[in-house]
Amino acid sequence: MNDISCKQEIKQITIPTPFAVGDVHTYIIITDKVTLVDAGVKTMEAWEVFQRELSSHGLKVLDIDQVVVTHHHPDHVGLLDYFPANIPVYGHKRAHPWMTQDQRYFSTHEAYYKELFERMGVEERFYPVLDAIDKPLRFACQRGLTSFVGEGDRLDGLANWRIMETPGHASSHLVLFDETSGTLIGGDLILADISPNPLVEPPYVDEAERKKAMLEYIHSIEKMKRLPIKRVLPGHGDIVKNVPVLLETRLKQQDKRANKVLNYLKNQPATAYEICQFLFKSVYEKQLLLTLSETIGQIDYLLDKGLIVEDATSKPYTYTAGGK
Ligand SMILES: [Zn+2]
Repeated sequence: MNDISCKQEIKQITIPTPFAVGDVHTYIIITDKVTLVDAGVKTMEAWEVFQRELSSHGLKVLDIDQVVVTHHHPDHVGLLDYFPANIPVYGHKRAHPWMTQDQRYFSTHEAYYKELFERMGVEERFYPVLDAIDKPLRFACQRGLTSFVGEGDRLDGLANWRIMETPGHASSHLVLFDETSGTLIGGDLILADISPNPLVEPPYVDEAERKKAMLEYIHSIEKMKRLPIKRVLPGHGDIVKNVPVLLETRLKQQDKRANKVLNYLKNQPATAYEICQFLFKSVYEKQLLLTLSETIGQIDYLLDKGLIVEDATSKPYTYTAGGK
């Protein structure tokens, strides 16, 4: 432990979002440098609240030396557009094409999701949903990362903070762990009241296959279990204190959800869309992309455990309970 880490202060700044998740938290770590972790959604209201909260801590935007983003979702990066252009912004390289709104990357998305819908057996009446798929990006930033960071990296002024890769909720997801105090700035990985949705992302620019978000999420939670975390400062909701218990609860909940799907498939084979309808009877129509992501997560989980079999000979694919 060095002097600087002893003098460290952390401030939570809470910013409204137009999304169902509600407010988002950002964090200021004050050492010999001022570091902002995450930068809320791009609305005038969020910008005003952010500046007001910042000044209540005796700071202004120009005092911020550097920004780290935990992942690329709009509610964590949007305000960067209002920051001076010379502030360094760090994050995982996979966040970059989302943050710059790289049209070359986005141009592949519609075809990707359409093929995914066909594979899953989604009714054609829902295909227009794909036209609006990039809509939340108007709340995101349009500036990229200055430098990429990843597993084990440390930044100036944050010598006791270890950056760790924790994909799952987003493939770009990072957390920051303060080894001296046991504080984890957890983005959306560990939330007190909800388990984060393992969102399906089209394959990254140089990859052929999508990442299996649910499996990555489980892996990230297992990784967090091995850390002496005392508290989590999350992206949304209350600060998490009893971390080992919550991590265990999340893993058990996931297994329970997967079992529900397994039991359903014991009665009949089904497409992913049918599983989605079964799991989310009342909400799947309104929240199609979120509920499909969750369903894909359960299928990936059960396939990985060898508990179900996929028939991919024709679209839509079907799933049957039972090992290979
Ligand atoms: Zn998120």
